[in-house]
Amino acid sequence: MQIRLAGIVKESVVDGPGIRMVVFVQGCPHHCPGCHNENTQDPSGGYLTTVQEVIDQLPSNPLVTGLTFSGGEPFLQAGALAVIGKAAKQRSLSVFTYTGFVFETLLEQSRNYPDIAALLAITDVLIDGPFLLEQRDISLAFRGSGNQRLLDVPASLRQGKAVEWTDPAWSTD
Ligand code: SF4
Repeated sequence: MQIRLAGIVKESVVDGPGIRMVVFVQGCPHHCPGCHNENTQDPSGGYLTTVQEVIDQLPSNPLVTGLTFSGGEPFLQAGALAVIGKAAKQRSLSVFTYTGFVFETLLEQSRNYPDIAALLAITDVLIDGPFLLEQRDISLAFRGSGNQRLLDVPASLRQGKAVEWTDPAWSTD
């Protein structure tokens, strides 16, 4: 299975709690003014690789405790990321997923698109919504603008509505 990426960062401390590997997918339809990763928007940019090649790069360093999907728009390649995320979970990595869509839209879409349901199912925390320049706030943890939410996906799926993620070890406001 192929996947189009903008790049991989093996160790990041800004894309979720702890030290995390970050997979930046290529291609994004949201075109947010002020986008922090403008080079990831072109759906034919970046490079093609395989899901297995990404899985082979999952960290063996025990200090790396999570995997983050960023972009670009991860839900445009939800099926491939769901496979990578499942492999990450089997290695006890937490999975954070960024998206320019809001959770409510993804939940609705997941009823018709199994790949979207699969990516939601292996995501622990979803950082949702487009980047809004007028709500830009550099004091927010892991987010660029105040409209974006940190959501507890398992709880949100159980309750059928967005549930904020709260981790006492991390200040998110
Ligand atoms: S969703 Fe993210 S990558 Fe896509 S245009 Fe907005 S800020 Fe850029």
